[in-house]
Amino acid sequence: MKIGIIGTGYVGLPTGVGLAELGNDVVCIDREHSKIDRLKAGQLTLFEEGLAELFAKNTASGRLKFTTSMKEGVESADVVLIAVGTPPHPVTKEADMKYIHAAATELAEYLTGYTVVATKSTVPVGTGDDVETLIRKKNPTADFDVVSLPEFLREGFAVHDFFHPDRIVIGANNERACNVIKKLYQPFEGEVPILCVNRRSSETIKYASNAFLAMKIHYINEMADFCEKTGADIYEVAKGMGLDQRIGKAFLRPGPGFGGSCFPKDTNAMAYMGRQNGVNMSLIEAVIAGNEQRKMQMAERITATVKDIPNAKIAVWGLAFKNGTDDCRESPAIYIVNGLIDSGAAICAYDPKAMENAQHILSDKISYAPDMYKAAEGADVLAILTEWEDFKAADLLRLKQVMRTPQIVDLRNMLSPEDAESAGFAYHRIGRK
Ligand code: NAD
Repeated sequence: MKIGIIGTGYVGLPTGVGLAELGNDVVCIDREHSKIDRLKAGQLTLFEEGLAELFAKNTASGRLKFTTSMKEGVESADVVLIAVGTPPHPVTKEADMKYIHAAATELAEYLTGYTVVATKSTVPVGTGDDVETLIRKKNPTADFDVVSLPEFLREGFAVHDFFHPDRIVIGANNERACNVIKKLYQPFEGEVPILCVNRRSSETIKYASNAFLAMKIHYINEMADFCEKTGADIYEVAKGMGLDQRIGKAFLRPGPGFGGSCFPKDTNAMAYMGRQNGVNMSLIEAVIAGNEQRKMQMAERITATVKDIPNAKIAVWGLAFKNGTDDCRESPAIYIVNGLIDSGAAICAYDPKAMENAQHILSDKISYAPDMYKAAEGADVLAILTEWEDFKAADLLRLKQVMRTPQIVDLRNMLSPEDAESAGFAYHRIGRK
């Protein structure tokens, strides 16, 4: 099939690569010229495990192309996917629809033949109707349908998740449109549940899922706090809980709070939609507030370890919002680093993939090191903020030698407490006394 994808970011790019790998002709469109220039030159614009190989293979075969021209990407497409950002509005925190509305308006005039316009972006309930109205207004005679096709991929696992989704949800208001999307996902038939629902249900499924996952994370974080006070061990508790199939094992790892480009914005957008519709979303509101507090409490935990040390230096390992990605959007690590800066300590940070993105946000407020041991040189405490596997394999004796004061605050529970303590560290982790 011929596919145009509007928005070549963390969703659009892996989706484009994946659909090309399945044999479709894909044109990825983005309004950012520098991004498209780099992609055309064979350079990836973001890091995802396994993406580079498939990107190279499919651009070489000619099945995957890049353009800044809406006309080029849309005019012969059977399916146009909209994968532009839906960031939180700075004041109301509702999902800001300006990119969606612009994309719908810009694509309208280039539709030819029957086309399904599918929204991959996470969008509020009723957006499908708005997109339909905008296209119809601009191009009254176009033959098209608008479908909701929410994306569930996890950053850091985008390629894996493209090929192994838990489910595919198609929100279509008629069978003709639904069948076109089913054809696109035919390679998954029989292996992955494909759920056809009405468009508004599909839009809701995405928000309801993300809000639930965020709630699960916050729940286990609160349980971790409880364990620290009572002598229980959060890992034993999480294991005991997770073996109950009604609860499930996933998302029961405590940490510094949820972040990233999705959970914070989607919980806020869901709460806003609740308020707009007069529905009490007290659970989600509490999760949002609790998660905000948690990030600051985590910064305080770190600064407490150096409060009596003059000219304290704090080493930070990890800036991305989670491992496997260079994405720092709403990263708890960035919030925590800002909290550390406020304490007056000098900070030196290292992240295996996210240094460039982090520097755009933190600029010269901190210093950056080329590796994890350099970041720790002369430090009075090491804070582990992202769960990169490299950190697990750290040489603790070498680390102790380079630090001024041997203290670790491990907010991802990466190290073995026994190993850290026997190497001579004062070691603090989450969820255990
Ligand atoms: P992103 O910011 O990485 O990418 C969006 C891209 O769209 C940018 O490159 C931007 O230049 C481009 N763009 C915006 N308007 C355009 C237009 N009119 N024409 C052409 N290009 C345009 O965003 P993302 O992380 O890929 O997220 C996209 C959507 O997918 C959001 O709604 C998000 O909530 C949702 N989502 C994201 C993830 C994730 O893990 N990142 C997962 C599931 C769903």
